[in-house]
Amino acid sequence: MSESLQILQQQLSPQASISKSTDPLFNTQRWSECNSATPGAIVNVASEDDISNTVSVKWANTNNIPFLAQSGGHGLYKGLSTLGANGILINLRALNTVKVDATAGTATIGGGTLTHEAIDAAQAAGTHIVTGVCNTVGVVGALVGGGLGYLLSVYGMGLDNMISCRLVTATGEVIEVSAESNEELWWGIRGAGHNFGIVSQLVVKAHPWINRGVHWKGMLGFAGGESDVERVVTAIQEMGVGKNMGLSILIARLPPMMGPMLVVFPYYVGPEAEAKVAYAKLLELNPMINRCGEIPYDKVNKGHDPACLKGRRKPTFGIAVRTLDVEKMKAAWREWEAFTTANPEAMGSTIIVECFDTRKTREIDPMETAYSWREEDFHMLFVPMHTDPGFDTTALSFGRKLRDSFKTEGKAAVYVNFAHGDEDLGEIYGSEERLAKLRDLKKTWDPEGRFSFYNPIPV
Ligand SMILES: Cc1cc2nc3c(=O)[nH]c(=O)nc-3n(C[C@H](O)[C@H](O)[C@H](O)COP(=O)(O)OP(=O)(O)OC[C@H]3O[C@@H](n4cnc5c(N)ncnc54)[C@H](O)[C@@H]3O)c2cc1C
Repeated sequence: MSESLQILQQQLSPQASISKSTDPLFNTQRWSECNSATPGAIVNVASEDDISNTVSVKWANTNNIPFLAQSGGHGLYKGLSTLGANGILINLRALNTVKVDATAGTATIGGGTLTHEAIDAAQAAGTHIVTGVCNTVGVVGALVGGGLGYLLSVYGMGLDNMISCRLVTATGEVIEVSAESNEELWWGIRGAGHNFGIVSQLVVKAHPWINRGVHWKGMLGFAGGESDVERVVTAIQEMGVGKNMGLSILIARLPPMMGPMLVVFPYYVGPEAEAKVAYAKLLELNPMINRCGEIPYDKVNKGHDPACLKGRRKPTFGIAVRTLDVEKMKAAWREWEAFTTANPEAMGSTIIVECFDTRKTREIDPMETAYSWREEDFHMLFVPMHTDPGFDTTALSFGRKLRDSFKTEGKAAVYVNFAHGDEDLGEIYGSEERLAKLRDLKKTWDPEGRFSFYNPIPV
């Protein structure tokens, strides 16, 4: 590959660079080391032209070199690790500009932008944009799959807030994709976007601030145990997650004692007085940790930063469900507690449940985008965490067993960005009608299957 990399270098902008696997600073670390690719080189692109020239017939296509774009490096899908030494990683991180036009109500976001960069720019402009709840996740990677976050209850999912994008296709051509331009592809980009190209630029809605950009967030810690699981899940069911609300649940062993804990992070898009009424049922449970208060919108994800750190092995499994079954949650708690007690090396393993008010999401016709799971209110992640590759088999069977325990009639529904890689296509993309449309799009836009390292639709 070395010779052809020299040819590529000549076609890149002066700001771009190529790092070979033999370079001392070569770094392919991802959120989970299980998914780290072992490419022959990393191409650090600095412009849309750089992406196009790398992918195009002038280079990767002609030389038949596999490629994979990377922004935040948080992808969970196990197939990401299959990019080998004959392939290249296209590092998009330099494409991280965010321009907010508050008057027009739009934000133009570079393809390699991270969540906190987009939120910071939106906050500075007096606006809100819909992103995920992890600061270091790439905005585009999250949104083209769905984009679940705390503002979902007010504005709908991230993908429902997308207006248009510039896409470098499998041949290196640059096209505009929106409701007016390449409309069929626009359907597929929203829900299965990783399959059709590299987004160099995304335009999304930027909404005027609510409560001057100050919202409310809590951290409610319970000692855990089956009785606390029951109390918390029942309270959430009775309370309902309604207007302006969204919450996540974390089951983890937390420092300093590393004792088992169940932590709820309730979020409210608005002032404290309203939040306390909305979350009264949870607050009444007298949690042993109760840290709640108003928080500027650009600090909302900060509490999740430790869970978003890169490194360690985290072969994660996800599933989406319509209701949170108390008995299944209690059984999951038992399983997790036994696993983390028996395996101190995997003490950092967690269960995460994200829950948002999806009424806004359901207002959109289910067939209007490629995203399939608008009725599913709860998105669960089972995250085994360890460092020893020799422990992978044990970790995998723990994560899989927990995920499978929430299946309905042996089937899962899973948000594409939370898929492990052992699901069948219908479990990720939904009905046969949807799959048929996606296959047609794949045949048209990526007949060679260049974008095949992340939940690929077979050609
Ligand atoms: C700790 C953690 C927290 C998360 N929280 C949330 C959340 O709150 N909400 C949510 O919706 N999701 C969440 N996710 C899932 C997340 O949305 C996906 O993992 C997403 O794909 C990550 O994007 P990335 O750029 O960080 O990862 P990468 O691994 O860099 O990319 C993942 C995939 O997206 C592709 N991709 C990246 N950038 C582009 C681009 N510009 N154009 C085309 N394809 C691109 C890559 O090629 C790859 O196939 C979370 C994941 C983790 C690990």
